[in-house]
Amino acid sequence: MKLIFEQSRPGTRCSLLPPCDVPKAGLPVALRKSPPRLPELAEVDLSRHYACLAKEAHGVNDGFYPLGSCTMKYNPRINEEAAALPGFTGLHPLQPIETVQGALEVLCTAEKLLCAITGMDRMTFQPAAGAHGEFTGLLLIKAWHRSRGDSARRKIIIPDAAHGTNPASATMAGYDVVSIPSNEKGCVDLDKLREAVGADTAGLMLTNPNTVGLFDENILEITKIVHDAGGLCYYDGANLNAVMGIARPGDMGFDVVHLNLHKTFSTPHGCGGPGSGPVGCREFLAPFLPGDQAVADGDGFTLERSTASIGQVKAFYGNFLVVVRALAYILTLGREGVPEAAENAVLNANYLMALLKDGYEMAFTEGVMHEFVMTLEGLKKESGVSAMDIAKGLLDHGIHPPTMYFPLIVHEALMVEPTETESRATLDEAAQVFLHLLDQARTDPAALHAAPVTTCVGRLDEVGAARNPRLRYAFPAE
Ligand SMILES: *Cc1c(COP(=O)(O)O)cnc(C)c1O
Repeated sequence: MKLIFEQSRPGTRCSLLPPCDVPKAGLPVALRKSPPRLPELAEVDLSRHYACLAKEAHGVNDGFYPLGSCTMKYNPRINEEAAALPGFTGLHPLQPIETVQGALEVLCTAEKLLCAITGMDRMTFQPAAGAHGEFTGLLLIKAWHRSRGDSARRKIIIPDAAHGTNPASATMAGYDVVSIPSNEKGCVDLDKLREAVGADTAGLMLTNPNTVGLFDENILEITKIVHDAGGLCYYDGANLNAVMGIARPGDMGFDVVHLNLHKTFSTPHGCGGPGSGPVGCREFLAPFLPGDQAVADGDGFTLERSTASIGQVKAFYGNFLVVVRALAYILTLGREGVPEAAENAVLNANYLMALLKDGYEMAFTEGVMHEFVMTLEGLKKESGVSAMDIAKGLLDHGIHPPTMYFPLIVHEALMVEPTETESRATLDEAAQVFLHLLDQARTDPAALHAAPVTTCVGRLDEVGAARNPRLRYAFPAE
């Protein structure tokens, strides 16, 4: 497939601009010395180019997408209908308050419902992604310690099973990261945690169920150990799918939570954005929340900003239309539907695991929630076929691979999260494909080393892509 620049034919146009009804004003010459080298294409070719790109990607509408920790659930069309309402799409963030009452009501209602789901008191919708939420939440923790004159707390404790964004966000927020090893069950080792906490502990970041899909039964003890040491507890709720409507981070003892609306709450994961990573907190942290908060005011709604706010982390109110989609989702499911979705997510993961566990070695089988992790270490020793090979083989069967080589504590890991929106028939078919690949690993490993053969590109040089990314088009020398 050609790049759009390579398809460009000078003089071709597809823009139909209305006649200009204001005086023309060019850019200052100092800013632009030559015309921008934009590709020149007819509308039909432009349209085909993007349609072609879309076909070469695998989305949740193309097939099964069990990408562990990412919750690639179906995004219901009704969410899109709500977000496309002209009353929402035509808004300007600087409109007078009395003309945006509906939008403020959306923010207030979403805040109320998500606080009910998480057990938090307040919530901001500014952060644009999960990692951005982590960063924001850690700044709340930092602001609180600082407000009490406690500047000795420089460390954030993070279990080694954590999502990679946790240590990255803690570092971005100016903290030193203390990594603690997990126990043999993949959960927090209480003795190691007790050894790690102290007068320099700002807080703990934890995912529960954790990244191997297990619910940590010691959670109340864990949050108590951190609180007794004077630290706060941060809940990475990127993936709340196993517990939403059933168990609340607030009741587990957490002080700050972020959610990924683009995972649990069925809004699209659009190529890195726009997402939404709202941060909820307990009342004592609310004064530090970023930016303006929508609040009820008599019969209507208004905006409020605390003088202790950590400041803006994103323009205005975050990705507002993503919040509209998530609210549509929650209201569609309702009080009964939210926990039912969580139960089905857990059921689907356990069902698929049961279909696979005679063939594939599971890293953990007890208490598996919404996702499970298998280890292909044995298969690799026996046949030379790695987790990567099986993942690539799945592509030839129209299935997006599970998350690979994560969490780091499991070798040759494949982490499978089917989500609740897949039917039993889809899970049965997927299990057949997984088991077929296992046979193939033993009978014809060379075929799997060569996979994928049906996609537009085969094996990519992933290290090269990460180390030497080519992010701009190299125009031929003029
Ligand atoms: C996805 C995920 C994140 C990060 O979310 P982004 O929106 O990708 O920044 C953090 N923690 C966990 C457990 C996740 O699954």
